[in-house]
Order: sequence, then structure tokens, then C-alpha cells
Amino acid sequence: MAGEPLRLILIGPPGVGKGTQAALLESRLGVQPMSSGVIFRSEIEAETDLGRMARRYIEHGELVPNGVTIEMMAKRLRTEAVRKHGFVLDGFPRTMRQAEALDEILDEMDLHLNKVVSLELPESVLMARLAGRLGCTKCGEIYHSVNKPPRRPGLCDKCNSPLFVRTDDQPEAILERLRSFHEETQSVCDYYEAKGLLQHVESDNPESVYHEIVNHLA
Ligand code: ADP
Repeated sequence: MAGEPLRLILIGPPGVGKGTQAALLESRLGVQPMSSGVIFRSEIEAETDLGRMARRYIEHGELVPNGVTIEMMAKRLRTEAVRKHGFVLDGFPRTMRQAEALDEILDEMDLHLNKVVSLELPESVLMARLAGRLGCTKCGEIYHSVNKPPRRPGLCDKCNSPLFVRTDDQPEAILERLRSFHEETQSVCDYYEAKGLLQHVESDNPESVYHEIVNHLA
């Protein structure tokens, strides 16, 4: 896309397809995705202090405290790459404090958001999606035991690496993540709605969702 770099937030409950859309926007438009969940999981994998701390919350489906989350994302946002190429944020901001912190960071950098896309689906569909979800340990491709099984059980079709079930895709953690979406993140949607930035998109088919997002950006 020519012109100003894209600065977009994807917001929505767990399992709604934020990661899928962020990956499509990256591969087709070249915008850099910034997923707080992916960053936390790589910190856990690398066994950093931040990863060790975040793990306790993530395994239970609870939000990691605002202070560390904001610091982690601020470090990645305050860069020349972000200024030049923009970003697609996925999973951040998730609380009002995080939304206000993001405003401050963008103000400092003299940048503004183009759009906030709220991806939406009924809760029963989200539960079913999360309960069978499998991810590739290497390339991040997402599968589902029923809706999108890999060709060979337990292995990624794209890169042949082993697949894994996220520890927070257990029923109790899923319920906690949905609860925190309603209690914390819904007000972030209202905040962007009041600013006239929010676009509601029903998140059923990934291709049509992608085209709808791109149309809203035009
Ligand atoms: P999902 O959207 O499917 O719940 P994510 O991969 O975005 O999954 O996040 C996984 C977990 O990482 C969350 O349940 C939470 O524990 C933690 N996390 C991610 N982003 C944030 C955030 N902005 N603030 C607090 N915790 C976060």
C-alpha cells in the first residue's frame, strides 16, 4: 500500500483470529505484526526473567500486569522501523491503562493510529475454536484438530516441525481469558469507538475478513 505506513490495532476475544489476520497483513502488505502473546511466548521459550514472570499469569489465562507489558511493548514501538513501516498490533492494548500508554508513546513519536479493527464472533464458536487449537512450534502456523487438521498428525504441513497445544488453551484458562476480555478489553473497544477509530468485522472466513479489513483501510 503506497503512502503513509499502516498503524492498525486488531482487537477481539481469544480465538477470534487476530493472529491469522496479522499474518495475512504481513505476508500481503508487508506490515510488521506486533503480537504481545507471541512476544511473551518467545520470552518464556528463551527463559528470560520476563518470560519466567509472565508464565505464571499466562498459564492461568490471566493478564500479565500492566507495568511490565507496557514496558515490553514500548521498547518495541519506540523504533525507527515502526516510524518508517508502521505496525499491526495484536493483543495490545488489552486494558485502559495500556491504551492510554499507547496514546502517550504515539504522541511522543508524533504518530497516530489509522484504524482499530474489532474482530467479533459468538462465544460458543470461540470456545470450540480454542479447545482444538494446535500451533507450529517453528513457523507459527495454526491448525485445529477438527476444522483444520494437519496432513500428518502432530506435524506442520508447511515446515514439518512439531505442533503443540498452548498451555492456556485448557478449558479453565480459556474461560479466564474470555472473562478478562469482557472485563478489561471491552472498555478499550468502547474507548476507540468514541474516538471514531473502531471498525466492527465479523470474523468468520479468514479471506473475506482480510478483504473487509483492507477495504476499511482504503
Ligand atoms: P489470546 O488473544 O488468544 O488470549 P494472546 O496470544 O494474545 O492470546 O495472549 C496470550 C496470553 O498472554 C494472555 O492470556 C495474557 O496472559 C498474556 N498477554 C498477552 N497480551 C497481553 C496484554 N496486552 N496484557 C496483559 N497480558 C497479555
